[in-house]
Amino acid sequence: MASELEPEVQAIDRSLLECSAEEIAGKWLQATDLTREVYQHLAHYVPKIYCRGPNPFPQKEDMLAQHVLLGPMEWYLCGEDPAFGFPKLEQANKPSHLCGRVFKVGEPTYSCRDCAVDPTCVLCMECFLGSIHRDHRYRMTTSGGGGFCDCGDTEAWKEGPYCQKHELNTSEIEEEEDPLVHLSEDVIARTYNIFAITFRYAVEILTWEKESELPADLEMVEKSDTYYCMLFNDEVHTYEQVIYTLQKAVNCTQKEAIGFATTVDRDGRRSVRYGDFQYCEQAKSVIVRNTSRQTKPLKVQVMHSSIVAHQNFGLKLLSWLGSIIGYSDGLRRILCQVGLQEGPDGENSSLVDRLMLSDSKLWKGARSVYHQLFMSSLLMDLKYKKLFAVRFAKNYERLQSDYVTDDHDREFSVADLSVQIFTVPSLARMLITEENLMSIIIKTFMDHLRHRDAQGRFQFERYTALQAFKFRRVQSLILDLKYVLISKPTEWSDELRQKFLEGFDAFLELLKCMQGMDPITRQVGQHIEMEPEWEAAFTLQMKLTHVISMMQDWCASDEKVLIEAYKKCLAVLMQCHGGYTDGEQPITLSICGHSVETIRYCVSQEKVSIHLPVSRLLAGLHVLLSKSEVAYKFPELLPLSELSPPMLIEHPLRCLVLCAQVHAGMWRRNGFSLVNQIYYYHNVKCRREMFDKDVVMLQTGVSMMDPNHFLMIMLSRFELYQIFSTPDYGKRFSSEITHKDVVQQNNTLIEEMLYLIIMLVGERFSPGVGQVNATDEIKREIIHQLSIKPMAHSELVKSLPEDENKETGMESVIEAVAHFKKPGLTGRGMYELKPECAKEFNLYFYHFSRAEQSKAEEAQRKLKRQNREDTALPPPVLPPFCPLFASLVNILQSDVMLCIMGTILQWAVEHNGYAWSESMLQRVLHLIGMALQEEKQHLENVTEEHVVTFTFTQKISKPGEAPKNSPSILAMLETLQNAPYLEVHKDMIRWILKTFNAVKKMRESSPTSPVAETEGTIMEESSRDKDKAERKRKAEIARLRREKIMAQMSEMQRHFIDENKELFQQTLELDASTSAVLDHSPVASDMTLTALGPAQTQVPEQRQFVTCILCQEEQEVKVESRAMVLAAFVQRSTVLSKNRSKFIQDPEKYDPLFMHPDLSCGTHTSSCGHIMHAHCWQRYFDSVQAKEQRRQQRLRLHTSYDVENGEFLCPLCECLSNTVIPLLLPPRNIFNNRLNFSDQPNLTQWIRTISQQIKALQFLRKEESTPNNASTKNSENVDELQLPEGFRPDFRPKIPYSESIKEMLTTFGTATYKVGLKVHPNEEDPRVPIMCWGSCAYTIQSIERILSDEDKPLFGPLPCRLVGLVLAFPALQCQDFSGISLGTGDLHIFHLVTMAHIIQILLTSCTEENGMDQENPPCEEESAVLALYKTLHQYTGSALKEIPSGWHLWRSVRAGIMPFLKCSALFFHYLNGVPSPPDIQVPGTSHFEHLCSYLSLPNNLICLFQENSEIMNSLIESWCRNSEVKRYLEGERDAIRYPRESNKLINLPEDYSSLINQASNFSCPKSGGDKSRAPTLCLVCGSLLCSQSYCCQTELEGEDVGACTAHTYSCGSGVGIFLRVRECQVLFLAGKTKGCFYSPPYLDDYGETDQGLRRGNPLHLCKERFKKIQKLWHQHSVTEEIGHAQEANQTLVGIDWQHL
Ligand SMILES: [Zn+2]
Ligand SMILES: [Zn+2]
Ligand SMILES: [Zn+2]
Ligand SMILES: [Zn+2]
Ligand SMILES: [Zn+2]
Ligand SMILES: [Zn+2]
Ligand SMILES: [Zn+2]
Repeated sequence: MASELEPEVQAIDRSLLECSAEEIAGKWLQATDLTREVYQHLAHYVPKIYCRGPNPFPQKEDMLAQHVLLGPMEWYLCGEDPAFGFPKLEQANKPSHLCGRVFKVGEPTYSCRDCAVDPTCVLCMECFLGSIHRDHRYRMTTSGGGGFCDCGDTEAWKEGPYCQKHELNTSEIEEEEDPLVHLSEDVIARTYNIFAITFRYAVEILTWEKESELPADLEMVEKSDTYYCMLFNDEVHTYEQVIYTLQKAVNCTQKEAIGFATTVDRDGRRSVRYGDFQYCEQAKSVIVRNTSRQTKPLKVQVMHSSIVAHQNFGLKLLSWLGSIIGYSDGLRRILCQVGLQEGPDGENSSLVDRLMLSDSKLWKGARSVYHQLFMSSLLMDLKYKKLFAVRFAKNYERLQSDYVTDDHDREFSVADLSVQIFTVPSLARMLITEENLMSIIIKTFMDHLRHRDAQGRFQFERYTALQAFKFRRVQSLILDLKYVLISKPTEWSDELRQKFLEGFDAFLELLKCMQGMDPITRQVGQHIEMEPEWEAAFTLQMKLTHVISMMQDWCASDEKVLIEAYKKCLAVLMQCHGGYTDGEQPITLSICGHSVETIRYCVSQEKVSIHLPVSRLLAGLHVLLSKSEVAYKFPELLPLSELSPPMLIEHPLRCLVLCAQVHAGMWRRNGFSLVNQIYYYHNVKCRREMFDKDVVMLQTGVSMMDPNHFLMIMLSRFELYQIFSTPDYGKRFSSEITHKDVVQQNNTLIEEMLYLIIMLVGERFSPGVGQVNATDEIKREIIHQLSIKPMAHSELVKSLPEDENKETGMESVIEAVAHFKKPGLTGRGMYELKPECAKEFNLYFYHFSRAEQSKAEEAQRKLKRQNREDTALPPPVLPPFCPLFASLVNILQSDVMLCIMGTILQWAVEHNGYAWSESMLQRVLHLIGMALQEEKQHLENVTEEHVVTFTFTQKISKPGEAPKNSPSILAMLETLQNAPYLEVHKDMIRWILKTFNAVKKMRESSPTSPVAETEGTIMEESSRDKDKAERKRKAEIARLRREKIMAQMSEMQRHFIDENKELFQQTLELDASTSAVLDHSPVASDMTLTALGPAQTQVPEQRQFVTCILCQEEQEVKVESRAMVLAAFVQRSTVLSKNRSKFIQDPEKYDPLFMHPDLSCGTHTSSCGHIMHAHCWQRYFDSVQAKEQRRQQRLRLHTSYDVENGEFLCPLCECLSNTVIPLLLPPRNIFNNRLNFSDQPNLTQWIRTISQQIKALQFLRKEESTPNNASTKNSENVDELQLPEGFRPDFRPKIPYSESIKEMLTTFGTATYKVGLKVHPNEEDPRVPIMCWGSCAYTIQSIERILSDEDKPLFGPLPCRLVGLVLAFPALQCQDFSGISLGTGDLHIFHLVTMAHIIQILLTSCTEENGMDQENPPCEEESAVLALYKTLHQYTGSALKEIPSGWHLWRSVRAGIMPFLKCSALFFHYLNGVPSPPDIQVPGTSHFEHLCSYLSLPNNLICLFQENSEIMNSLIESWCRNSEVKRYLEGERDAIRYPRESNKLINLPEDYSSLINQASNFSCPKSGGDKSRAPTLCLVCGSLLCSQSYCCQTELEGEDVGACTAHTYSCGSGVGIFLRVRECQVLFLAGKTKGCFYSPPYLDDYGETDQGLRRGNPLHLCKERFKKIQKLWHQHSVTEEIGHAQEANQTLVGIDWQHL
């Protein structure tokens, strides 16, 4: 350490302190060359203040720097004492209306989903709370640091740009006022001088690259040989590597190494050694050598101490500048001016440029300091923000390239400021027009992706890890492009048009490089050897998706731009696919007299690519054109004539055929990469600019060409042309049995093709394709998602495409189509489709995956059955197409289509002769249905002058022409209606025929039409079917009823189990006492039941039989039989603690006999209630132990239970257990003969006898421990003791229990001893039974609390067998009873304790006088208690408070003693087996009287004192003399008051963001003001902890543990309940190895939690869920919960919970 340096440092300090800031400033004011003067000052003093030793002394350095260096500057600037100068400046200032608060890591930020221009516009918490947005739909996130509050920025908000605080000044602000007018000329001049010098100095020294030489004007005369070995941060090496290397290189401890590594990670650099050059060089070489093996070495420099000193001060200066400009906007303006002023070297020589351009060379700490300065200066000044934006844009290419080659995260790069600049709409527009920003960004991006194939397309094959890393960084450029495009222009200037189109050109160039990239060829024969790289191309596509959409949005906002863009896009597409390429030979196709020329091309044989962004962009623009006015008014302006429809459709069609073939299994040998690509092609993240646009492109094509031609080309590409063009080809085909696979393949291909046709005709919900708006589109998406099943909000959001603002548009329509169902205690809120929306369901909705389609079909059919409707799912009625697409519908009535339909129906009719499938038929039926719907609509909307040209009904009624003479489609449908093998499709065929007739009727509106004939047949048909139908209906009703009952039953059962989990587990056991109550209830209800004393109710003995869960054998529970045991779990507990700071200091010496009223640490026992034979359990446990030992040796796996600690899982319910409880009869039954009350001593006599006995025993104990005493002496003294009659100290009662039960009793007792005291088990320790009793007492109290808190009756379903068995211990351990009956003893002890407790209550009762005067005369109890209180008053020497009213006293005694009475009732119930009185089981009332009578107490408890006044008075007097009582009464200590209040988890705020805010202000307690990364809140005591971090690890029992684990030991004796604030996640911990996450008690408005805070919806406290967590805690079920979670999810077992 620096101890030897100390005196020298001290000396310097004194000389430094003698400096006078005022004098220096005065000298500077006189100076002719101020720069030289200041530099000399700095050259002299800076090295004297900074870097004087191996470790920095930040406080001292700051103090001296302020005094010697900054002070003079402030004096100079103000021209007077800055203490007066700055406040003056501040007063004269007209503050900016921008908030500009820079966010700390973890600070909450808010954005308004209604008003924010884009999601990057955020508010700080203070501004948010004062804004109008708090009542809007807002989004909440935690900041990653950097970035600032946009409050006051009118461009960031559509509405409400100011909060209340920042609005104050807006009225005064007239346009742009020069802030300098508020400053005097002198101040301006001086500020300018000092800013220019200091800013230049800081820039110069920070960008200085030499390691041992200073800039000439700072060089010192004498230079010492003191150097630093400086270690820099990189993102390549891990924490562990750095720590390990440092320990080796500089010989430090692990703790020091951790400290170094933490600072390096935070600040970007840290000196790890101080000394002469050689010494530092040596460390450097070790570090470099040690870290250069696999990667590039850690960066280390040996730097002269004076350079480091100047750099440290340089940083200090920048922060100082940042704080000085806070005084006045004028000062800020001057700094901006200084920063942007061009230097002597021309272009790029301003200070700001110089900093930006050396950004990647600076270390993290330096970067963030100057970034912050930029944010608080340049970005806060509207004028200079613009100028800075220009500088940023001009340097853009260079900055991005630096960033790409640098390895620091984006947030530490100056390139990250792009978000602050580009998202300002006016700046973005200016940069586009003046700096051609769009083109620059796109070109910079392209420059970094240099790998191209022969055609100039991107090539990602064989790209290295380094390239992959670079590729990831390059992607941030796409983000920049997104920022620039985020707000669409409302007005277009010619320059903007020109520059946008230039940018569009660049963009097309980019897309051109993607068109056709990653082509694939079908693998036949061999499986592919290596999965080809495909992710990079898709990543690019995915990242560009929003940009492509935004480009289209921009185009859509101006028709001129749109038409130009369309032309450009078309031209590029022609370049890509102009003309035939080699090997594409023209062929002619013909069907039904139509013929078309096309090329020979097979997807299954040639190259094909999924990436067609140019085609898709054109499709998008085409739709926009279709929507625009030009399309209607001046179609001649459109370049439609230049289009070649076959060329347009070719590539999208190939892509769709590829999907069909993959689905048909033809591409299996191409491996998973292709499957993945197809998946993403349809996925919600990509489909909008992939699959959807391909469908649009085909729709465009069909609408512009003869549909027959289209269909023939389509058949050809699907490789199905032959099947449909050659008559009876299908028959021949199916007969070739050898080609079974091929038959299957072709069937699938036909299905897929029909599906595609359905989509082409049916998908008209994009505005521009059909006559719909955006709302219709989103509604339809939601309807189809909810047709699958009811969904939670987040599920729906995930299934819908998001726009660049992360909006799906769902909120605006959801109410119209769905009902919301609130969540219960678990689960989420759900949206359910409104029934009336079901008719819009389309089975062939194009965004369904196959699985979704079949789920939706099933769900919809089930719904129809429930509504007793037929199960047909006919196509819905569709909106009309836009004019540009209108002719598309003709595809349905085209000859080729009718031929396809006819052929397939024919196959179905002759169903044995052909290969066909039901799905095929189903699709044909759907298509026919669509055609009918279409014709119906045409007829409905027909106007007089128009002729309906859609004549599908006529066409399908006509039979085929000669020579085929095939029957008409209609005829075939009628035939199929009766086909027995088509039962499922009958409803649909019936629907088609019905609709056909309706349409026909509409067409031939005259009533005497031949239609009646057809209808007649159908009528007949239906009457024939009537009987059958009726029978069917009845059967169906019966089936439904059955189903419903079954569902109800299982639902009820499930619900019941869920709600009564604990109860359910308990009822599995045959609870003897409960069943006894039930059996004898008629007897019991007649008399008063008394649990003890002379009046104790005698209960006839019952026999009890239980079944072992392991061997299924039944056995009677008897004293002498083999033991039956229950699995049990013993744990330490602080749940009831009133003093968490107290814990057992020395467990070896701790005396557990007296249970302190603060219950600071107890031992809790719980059981799942499952019964086993003791020997069965032994065998089970041994085998578990053996298995785990083998497993651990082999795999070193963790389990959810720790076998070495005696833990196991209940073999039935897997409940965590660590011991067993033997099953016993109520113990007092065994001593029945000794419960005699005749001739027994009264309380006074009994106490006397007992104290004699105790004295005797104590004496004997002492004798035993002093062995040299003769035995003779012993007997003499015994005589002196006057032993009571019949007392034999050496009496050992006979143990009634079997050996096996005895053994199990010991097992359990030892477990409580071991766990409760945390010591090694020792059966002989006399504390074993005491710990066991203690556990019994603690557990009863905790049961009583749970029942009271939940307002449940005392003898509810919670059995506590514990009592019985715990009280069995006396049988093993007790001494003689000297003729006094056990019953008497019980009664007297109980009365005595009750009285003592009453005294306790009275002494501690704080009777707040509420001034309520009593009206009635005092009752008997009141006067009695008043008398007792007076006695107490007297015995305490009047230290007790003045006498309150009797009414109050009696009230507090009653309230205070209730918990005790309840516990006692539970205790005696289980001890003596007396059933509980039915009155007590009624919930709600207090039952004071019932309890008293059950417990053999007088209702007026004070009577106990009166009856035994003789002995009691002396006892009370002695109690009152106790010194602690005195101290309490004198106010020297606190005492527990009764009734003890139940402990609760801390109060959580209603709004989650206030927790986030609280946590963001929390800094790590150990690393000096650093923000904690994982702030975690203890829900038990409210402490905030710095979790999951090296800085706050501590040693616990020889192991390093995180802050949470350490905290559990002091706060929850090993068990902890936490809230991880940043993750919004509850954490349960138990011991060092057990933990799990639990769902948080915060829900959003949709009834969902947000673990990880990913969605950002406002979160509010759900009280019920929080209560559930509290209940888990009260019930001591946290450990059990963890066990269950870990059993269910094995990955939880592997987490190092102790590091949290
Ligand atoms: Zn703010
Ligand atoms: Zn504000
Ligand atoms: Zn708003
Ligand atoms: Zn058994
Ligand atoms: Zn169990
Ligand atoms: Zn910490
Ligand atoms: Zn705590």
